[in-house]
Amino acid sequence: MIKESSQFEIKNKNVLLRLDLNVPVFKGRILSDFRILKSVPTIKKLLKNNNKVIIISHFGRPKEGCHDDSLSLEIIINNLENLVGEKITFSKDWINGVNFNGNNIVLCENVRFQLGEKQNLPSLAKQMSTLGDVFVFDAFGVSHRKEASTYGISDYLETFSGDLLKNEIMNANKLLTSDKRPMTTIISGAKISTKLTLIKKLISKSDNIILGGGILNTFLMAMGHEIGNSLVEKSFIEEAQEILNSSDAPKLIIPVDVMVSSNAAFDNPQNRDISVVQSNDKILDIGEKTIDRYIKVISESSIIFWNGPLGYVEKSPFDNGTIKISQAIASSKAYSVVGGGDTIPIIEGLSLQDEFSCLSTGGGSLLKFIEGEDLPILKKLGMHRL
Ligand code: ADP
Ligand code: MG
Repeated sequence: MIKESSQFEIKNKNVLLRLDLNVPVFKGRILSDFRILKSVPTIKKLLKNNNKVIIISHFGRPKEGCHDDSLSLEIIINNLENLVGEKITFSKDWINGVNFNGNNIVLCENVRFQLGEKQNLPSLAKQMSTLGDVFVFDAFGVSHRKEASTYGISDYLETFSGDLLKNEIMNANKLLTSDKRPMTTIISGAKISTKLTLIKKLISKSDNIILGGGILNTFLMAMGHEIGNSLVEKSFIEEAQEILNSSDAPKLIIPVDVMVSSNAAFDNPQNRDISVVQSNDKILDIGEKTIDRYIKVISESSIIFWNGPLGYVEKSPFDNGTIKISQAIASSKAYSVVGGGDTIPIIEGLSLQDEFSCLSTGGGSLLKFIEGEDLPILKKLGMHRL
């Protein structure tokens, strides 16, 4: 069923195309069209070869089997039409067949409204496979999920990997096999539990490890520092201590100061040295001296991998560390790869997206790929980590 050959060979077909159009939306407004933008070249290439395209994608996390207006993919149609430069037919009830209505593209309603999508129900996958003559998988962001539309369809339909997917794998492999040094890895974000394997995997490869976010708090606690009411995962203290006691520990660059708030509204930001954090403080960002240190390390690096915001970016000024780090990487000459859903909107907000070597559409999927986990559909497509 699986074809290694390039999409260029797909001609005059009805192509069932799985994309990741799961864009961040707030109060009905698309906050970042990064994933749409990245998907457009594949759509255009298929159209150029006289194919018709049936797009399926997930959007948010609806309750399966129910229609939910607030998670309708229709919200992206204007944006997608503008970027592709063609009218697109939206199909709400598509599972039993689509009508192109004179257009070359159909965008199907949120695939996660279909009962059985998550558990990869064979009857659903088979039903979806009847929509196209071939299947193109180009949704790297969900390649770690074994669902009906991300995996199941390939059991029933000739399957090709899309160009975005190929690019993502090439870039991730380039990061993993690069001999550029020094290599700096920045791992931040909310929870150490979701990033611990990544830290362990990349610490031996890296020359410097920069930490931020809730992950940093867990490390600070493991070192015996007062962290007040900060976001922390106490059950991971021991694992953090193991890393701190390992031979790679000197690669960790530990902050000397942090930004804290001591009230519930987070409206009294204070820069504190790490040794004077109070029991009622909440650490919400890295401090000024730490930012300067991190910027220096970044400026001396030849290759940088970054995942996750360094602070509570939803509330200014606690986005300061993340902004300063974005700017530092953007102005460095290093080969830079960024992955993870929460950093890219910030980079876009600063209009710095073109200053990075590679911004990945993958979040969890990229981390799992780097960690060395077999991603189901990639394994099937013969795409491997180097
Ligand atoms: P990504 O999706 O990019 O991998 P995560 O989801 O792991 O990133 O983390 C992003 C979240 O972490 C953001 O919502 C941010 O507010 C939160 N965060 C980062 N640092 C802190 C902190 N010190 N305190 C509370 N929340 C934080
Ligand atoms: Mg996230």
